[in-house]
Amino acid sequence: MERVIVVGGGLAGLRAVESLRSRGYEGGLTLVSAERHPPYDRPPLSKAVLAGETDDTTVDADWDALGCELLLGERATGLRLDAHGLDAHSSDARGGVVASTAGDLPFDGLVIATGAVPITLPGDGPQHVLRTIEEARDLRSRLTGGARIVIVGAGWIGAEVATAAARRGCAVTVVEAADTPLAGALGPEAGALTAPWYAEAGVELRTGVKVAEVRDGGLVLAGGGRIDADEVVVGVGVRPDLSWLEGSGLLLERGVVTDGSFRAYAGAEEPGSARPDVVAVGDCAAWWSARYGRRLLVEHWDTALNAPDVAAATLLGQDAVYDAAPYFWSEQFGRMVQYAGSHAASDRIVQRGDPSGRKWTAVWLTGDRLDAVLAVDRPRDLVQARRAIAAGAPVDAEAIADPDVPVRQAVRR
Ligand code: FAD
Repeated sequence: MERVIVVGGGLAGLRAVESLRSRGYEGGLTLVSAERHPPYDRPPLSKAVLAGETDDTTVDADWDALGCELLLGERATGLRLDAHGLDAHSSDARGGVVASTAGDLPFDGLVIATGAVPITLPGDGPQHVLRTIEEARDLRSRLTGGARIVIVGAGWIGAEVATAAARRGCAVTVVEAADTPLAGALGPEAGALTAPWYAEAGVELRTGVKVAEVRDGGLVLAGGGRIDADEVVVGVGVRPDLSWLEGSGLLLERGVVTDGSFRAYAGAEEPGSARPDVVAVGDCAAWWSARYGRRLLVEHWDTALNAPDVAAATLLGQDAVYDAAPYFWSEQFGRMVQYAGSHAASDRIVQRGDPSGRKWTAVWLTGDRLDAVLAVDRPRDLVQARRAIAAGAPVDAEAIADPDVPVRQAVRR
């Protein structure tokens, strides 16, 4: 390969650039990103940036040493794949052109790392979302003492914004359509365990409330009624923005569909149509997980950090498969909340410690297999359980329910 284009300048894009170079790629390298900033970390946006503790989350990178041309503030608008490339086994199955606001960018290797954009609600009233540093700074300036802040969505972002707003003296209401916070991410049983944290922080949590639209001055609810607000913040999830890939021939669903090595499919999801020259990674990729026997679309920092190395190896023709168990964390209401694994197919949840207490852990099991862990201010549990999940090791269900027994001792050898 002589020319690789990376589209998207978030963490995944940067990591792809770094991995390509560290794996010995010496050809041309260009990163094109719609934002005007070099890659920066997003997790602090809803934490330290909103709290006013930092204003710059740029990820350290020596772009000169990386030998990477940066096209910032430029957007990819289309993708034309080399027709020969439709046969992934043909020797000339390489290349194409990214159409962009900076002109046509020919490539023989392409990394798609365009992340995701927040979903917004209907209505013509002003609504804040939180994805970029500008949005974080703008929102922070509005979190002033006494301001009525209404947050739609008691997910990860909603909980973190509520934490910051309450700390800054705002009157905070969180409106959630499901019956518990984090119902989508953790399921209702585990999600319910986080509900008391809201009242404890002085935040009003209204669950089972659906929003019809955002209007000037607040929300209109689906069943009638309104909630008045000085500022409305919407944290109801994200979706990959794949509009620039439409018509390219790549298989797009909720994310760019890839195999376990992040090769994008040109056509049906079958080995013969996986492109060796086009990889997708980070929040925009729906990749095949052999571990779970299904596609995963993981919108979390750890995947954006680690998966691009596999994508870079793939692009360079090296054998690599990504099969990590997902991991993420959240800092909310003074707690460090960490989750690893996947409980989608688990048969039960087991408490480890009293969830009405300050520190506790919950684990999900199928038979004696540990599927997932949720640790609240118990980082050691997280680390040890994450290791057991990665290894697929069986555990003693009685021992793992005892918070005084280290998780590693509950693992059967
Ligand atoms: P992104 O960071 O979205 O980067 C994609 C980049 O591509 C963007 O700069 C975008 O502008 C650009 N782009 C998009 N379309 C185009 C185009 N057509 N042409 C050119 N450029 C384009 N995860 C955790 O695990 N824990 C946390 O505590 C946590 N907190 C978070 C807090 C916030 C406020 C947010 C927003 C996210 C948080 N995350 C957290 C998630 C984590 O930050 C993301 O998973 C990660 O940023 C994904 O990186 P990415 O590079 O795939 O995508």
